[in-house]
Amino acid sequence: MITRSPAVLQRAPAREADTEPLTVTPAWQTQLARAIRDPRELCRRLRLDPAWVPGAEAGHALFEVRVPEAFLTRMRPGDPADPLLRQVLPLIDEAAPAPGYVADPLAEAEHTPQRGLIHKYAGRVLLIASPACAVNCRYCFRRHFPYAENSPSRAQWERTLDYLRDDASIREAILSGGDPLAASDRQLAWLVERLGAIPHLKRLRIHTRLPVVIPDRIDGALLDWLTATRLQTVVVLHINHANEIDDAVIAACQRLQRAGATLLNQSVLLRGVNDSVDALADLSERLFEAGVLPYYLHVLDPVAGAAHFDVPDDEARERVAGLREVLPGFLVPRLVREIPGEASKTPL
Ligand code: SF4
Repeated sequence: MITRSPAVLQRAPAREADTEPLTVTPAWQTQLARAIRDPRELCRRLRLDPAWVPGAEAGHALFEVRVPEAFLTRMRPGDPADPLLRQVLPLIDEAAPAPGYVADPLAEAEHTPQRGLIHKYAGRVLLIASPACAVNCRYCFRRHFPYAENSPSRAQWERTLDYLRDDASIREAILSGGDPLAASDRQLAWLVERLGAIPHLKRLRIHTRLPVVIPDRIDGALLDWLTATRLQTVVVLHINHANEIDDAVIAACQRLQRAGATLLNQSVLLRGVNDSVDALADLSERLFEAGVLPYYLHVLDPVAGAAHFDVPDDEARERVAGLREVLPGFLVPRLVREIPGEASKTPL
């Protein structure tokens, strides 16, 4: 948690004020604005050898660094192999060309009928609700996504809503990004209210990393619109390592659950982060303690700049086979790959 004197203050979420001591923390917006965006500063704060700085600056030039304080405090200072740091530290490796690694590995540009709308799979559409993220993950398959071309105006949102109204086969709206929870609650409340007014829509799915990297994002204003919608809500978190889940993250998950959301997690299998049976088993156990079910374990999408994270398919299958030996079935995520043009994720 941030301990610096905050410029904007908020009380702890109202739902907990009766039962927990009053805490004063910076509002999530302030935490977001204060996220580290300088690779040199990231290295300094983590007490890395200065030899890491030139590589971090080179990687940053390709995809800017962004790390919120609440996430940074879960990393081990002085350890460049820390599994959380590895996810966010730019490296010179990102500049190395790798055959087959491309800017748009999932060919999303071919499935964008309107600005901010991706319609790849039957029955569900994906809405780019925010171009921003609270953290920039080095392996992100959208690290080259043209957000500027996919940030809809209010009028464009109306056209997107028309698209959903006109297609009765669509049952689920998925808010994605960037991170959809980086949008303001005013914007999200507006959007979710209109989605709820579309009779054939049944579910609202939110793919987000914000409850993990800034748990204070799950505040009273967010819970207000989340509880107000008639849509069944599913929040798919993105957590790759057990160390990401501290008490604040567990509390944020509990707030989401009390608001009626089903919580799932998807991870990416990443070299040097979670590519062992022990790390994956610890993650599943910790997720369940937080009330979250492991859902998907993705192999890396071949996005340019991320080849150093790759784990070959055979190794990935071995890891999941190892998980089956030590965990109950409901804690073993499905190992999948997303293949452009396929009707769903492909099990490996
Ligand atoms: S979209 Fe998700 S994975 Fe990609 S940088 Fe943002 S938070 Fe990380």
